[in-house]
Amino acid sequence: MSPIRLALVGLGKIARDQHLPAIAQTPGIELVAIASRNAALDGIAHYASLDELLAAMPDIDAIALCTPPQVRRAQAASALQAGKHVLLEKPPGATVSEIAPLVAMAAQTGKTLFATWHSRFAPAVEPAHEFLAEHAPRSVTIEWKEDVRVWHPGQDWIWEPGGLGVFDPGINALSILTRILPREVFLTKAELFFPANRAAPIAADLDFSDAAGLPIRAEFDFRQTGPQTWDIRIETDAGLLTLSSGGAQLFHDGRPLIVEKEAEYPGIYRHFVDLIGRGASDVDLTPLAHVADAFLLGRRNIVEPFEDTQ
Ligand code: NAP
Repeated sequence: MSPIRLALVGLGKIARDQHLPAIAQTPGIELVAIASRNAALDGIAHYASLDELLAAMPDIDAIALCTPPQVRRAQAASALQAGKHVLLEKPPGATVSEIAPLVAMAAQTGKTLFATWHSRFAPAVEPAHEFLAEHAPRSVTIEWKEDVRVWHPGQDWIWEPGGLGVFDPGINALSILTRILPREVFLTKAELFFPANRAAPIAADLDFSDAAGLPIRAEFDFRQTGPQTWDIRIETDAGLLTLSSGGAQLFHDGRPLIVEKEAEYPGIYRHFVDLIGRGASDVDLTPLAHVADAFLLGRRNIVEPFEDTQ
């Protein structure tokens, strides 16, 4: 079979850091075009917009959308209408309800819609899921704390409505949590911290539970300088399970079970190729629904203004 001809939209940080190398190492798919207003790649067809690309290259099979969430729904709709398979970066959209029409469109056109959650492809996530299927969790503590100036310099969209603020990384922790726990969880309390000059939170303290009363505490913070923390600790009836480094490492009572380098995106593209081959879609909105709940239930606290440069 000839490889899937893929076009990438939004040649920004995640496209360059992760998508390009992952596509290059995935059998069955090849990058043939880019749509980006301000960036291009040597040797690859370039268009300033997705619409221009779709008009000029009707033989494209699939589109990977690496743009900010606020503009992705319209792009996904155009791509599906044009009969393309679509991969969405996380979060799948700027609202929860904008995704259902995309799912319906993919079903109508017989194309694949893949709403990615890259952290679910981290090496410790499936082993943690298996451990927790055997050993009951008693409490969960999430610390997802990073320096926004280091990881998101100049990304104004993250502070705009729909950009999620600290939930942009925090939703990755929620995507892991909702994969590894044996039961569905729900939010019970939330404190959100908004800089006085921004429309999205810079920090959030969240309490979740489940039908069995499991206590789950999550702290997200964009103001972390020094060591960065992307850890989930789970007390279980068989000791302490710790996922650290965003799910790259797993420890049981301090003993390492998995210690790997971060490598999530090759798994994403293998799954995309597989979904297309099977004529299937993969869309799970649960992590985004939890973020929406935090905006519904959360008490809003105003904190000092945030400036990108200090
Ligand atoms: P980014 O560096 O800002 O890149 C996004 C690109 O999309 C921009 O370079 C821009 O390219 C294009 N774009 C199109 N419309 C835009 C608009 N209205 N505003 C701003 N840019 C627009 O962002 P990113 O970090 O790659 O993040 C993109 C998505 O990937 C987000 O949903 C994010 O959550 C997700 N993600 C990011 C990371 C990470 O570590 N950065 C990790 C995992 C997932 P042109 O100007 O050339 O059009």
